[in-house]
Amino acid sequence: MIDVVLKKGKEKAVLQKHPWVFSGAIEHVKGKPANGDIIRLLDGKKQFLGYGFYNDQSRVAVRLLEWNEDTAVNEDWFRQKVRTAVAGRAHILEDGSTDTCRLIFSEADYLPGLIVDKYADHLSVQVLTSGMQNAMPVIIDELNALLKPTSIFDKSDATSRSHEGLETSNVLLAGTHPPELVMVKENGITYGINIAEGQKSGFYCDQRDNRRLLAAYAKGKTMLDCFSYTGGFTLNALKNGAALVTSVDSSALAIETLQENIRLNSLDSAKHTAIKSDVNAQLRKFKESGDKFDIIVLDPPKYAPSRSALDRASRAYKDLNRIGMQLLNSGGLLATFSCSGAMDMETFKQVLAWAALDAGKQVQFINQFNQPEDHPVRSSFPEGEYLKGLLCRVW
Ligand code: SAH
Repeated sequence: MIDVVLKKGKEKAVLQKHPWVFSGAIEHVKGKPANGDIIRLLDGKKQFLGYGFYNDQSRVAVRLLEWNEDTAVNEDWFRQKVRTAVAGRAHILEDGSTDTCRLIFSEADYLPGLIVDKYADHLSVQVLTSGMQNAMPVIIDELNALLKPTSIFDKSDATSRSHEGLETSNVLLAGTHPPELVMVKENGITYGINIAEGQKSGFYCDQRDNRRLLAAYAKGKTMLDCFSYTGGFTLNALKNGAALVTSVDSSALAIETLQENIRLNSLDSAKHTAIKSDVNAQLRKFKESGDKFDIIVLDPPKYAPSRSALDRASRAYKDLNRIGMQLLNSGGLLATFSCSGAMDMETFKQVLAWAALDAGKQVQFINQFNQPEDHPVRSSFPEGEYLKGLLCRVW
């Protein structure tokens, strides 16, 4: 195994079990590891620090896997991590009302670059590091042994793959090709999921708990679900007796699937309107026409891909939320989210405070939303925390 030696004083984060080593922290590499090889990381005094994946094409040159020198990172190591992660999700699936969740969440489950989502008896996988790409035969074998899925589909069309010198991939890895729409259940609601064509790995299961939490306020109310995708918030609200729900998304496929989901759940389509539009343009239209709602959901895509984009993103979040607040009936509820890891909860509250001032409104934060337990956050890896939201009563 090849040794990678850190510059003096650069070992602090590694000792705190942070899994990333940036290329600038490396003093030298003894030999020529191939990208994706497992290396031994040493400090400036040649003391062992950990084993990790190496990649000289990535800004994160080493992704640490194991901090104990006596524990070999071999096939068994990977199998064990997969088993532990899957076992940790058992109770989400226990009562049968949910058969979709994230089984493996990359660094948070000690498997850097591996994301595995379960969609009923199909698995959708993203492989984002070259090291994990090498480990895939073992991972696939273990997933097959544990879960016997009908299919394992590789949905690694993420830009982060390009940082590792990997190409986009959208292929069947095992089993038979999933049908165009895979039927899954979440909180007792059925969704058709287009694994091959849908966004991300096909479904945003990170909003599972938040959809249920918000639906509890929806009975008899009018709701506007912005960035609805295939209708997670919409369907939960309709099922809980919402009077009228309007869903807005710019993706035609998302809107089409959402309408199919309304039918699948035998929900009253007379209580639902779907609009394929840019949300910002649609909100301005509602403002002009004087439309108001009791509840508004704002669940936009990631506005801040990095810390350097935070200022600009904060302005975009502020503008979006300002106009959202103005479209609420007095005392209405705004459920507003940010899935930008660079924006923490305190900053998000500040952005909402600015939005309220600009909107001429008063806001009470009455509840907080988080990412669910199948998207754990490792105490040594705060970067894994990305989804946050606030339920605001707006006067
Ligand atoms: N709330 C959804 C997930 C939202 S993901 C759920 O519960 O499943 C973000 C969505 O925003 C995607 O569906 C994407 O198509 C949509 N989107 C991105 N930019 C948009 C824009 N400018 N206007 C409307 N929709 C947009």
